Amino acid sequence: MEERKTCDVCHSNFLRKISFCRTQIQQLKAEDVRVTNKDYGKSLAMAVCQDCGLIQPQHLIDPHSLGKLYHEGNDAEYVHSASLRGQSNYRQISRIIKRYDPSCSSFLEVGAGSGTLVSLLKNEYAQVDGIEPNISFCEFARDAYTIALKNVGIEDFQTDRTYDCVVALDVLEHVASADRCMGKIAAMLGPSAIAIIGTPDVESFASRLFPGKWWHIRPGHLYYFHKRSFLRLAAKYNLSLVGSEFFSWELPLGYVVDSIQRLIFGKVWMKFDACRIPLRLCLFDSRLNIVKKG
Ligand SMILES: [Zn+2]
Repeated sequence: MEERKTCDVCHSNFLRKISFCRTQIQQLKAEDVRVTNKDYGKSLAMAVCQDCGLIQPQHLIDPHSLGKLYHEGNDAEYVHSASLRGQSNYRQISRIIKRYDPSCSSFLEVGAGSGTLVSLLKNEYAQVDGIEPNISFCEFARDAYTIALKNVGIEDFQTDRTYDCVVALDVLEHVASADRCMGKIAAMLGPSAIAIIGTPDVESFASRLFPGKWWHIRPGHLYYFHKRSFLRLAAKYNLSLVGSEFFSWELPLGYVVDSIQRLIFGKVWMKFDACRIPLRLCLFDSRLNIVKKG
């Protein structure tokens, strides 16, 4: 693997290797990038940019190898909770669009997962598209909601059109290059369009409370932003922050209990995944950033 010489975002060569996680891994496998992966505190070797503060992999990530892992992986646990997660996302995203872009008529979700958000927004907007690199999630969306997500990751997505709103929830930290991802999102925004970009906040209270084993430190997460590094990336593409709020999830209670066991004991002693009672969680450690051109 080729060592990274400059920061993905600001191209500074002041990168410092850091001990960031509890368990360091050499390379990623398909199970590492699952949505429901619970290997908290496990990640690739990381470096921090001394200029913009972005935490990023010490080695360059090959977008095609990474794309293959996302394309092929199976994640039955995610699919079981997809509808619950998607409905919760819908409530937040729908409210944000109405507030920040009331004349929105076209929408794209990057990393649409199960397609629940796309299927719910289709009732409200003229043009609603979704792209999703995982083939089994696209099949689920087709069978459950009769919608056709485009089976492609943001790195390979090509379009000539622009949208009034582009949403990327928990995408920016997963891609081979956060800079390329943001550049592509910016290019798809129309003149008064907004982008809603959700990503964990590495300066949050929870991140500081659990150094090295915060639940957002996991193998599939490659970029860790705080407010300053996110704004630096946005500004690079002439995007300014017009709003920010904490992201909340709705998850099955059993999933949360299993995750807490993994966090505390490093393993799941007793599986509660059959318990599907919905639980709304806001841990104040993941932000929805609303950005606009200009
Ligand atoms: Zn930098």
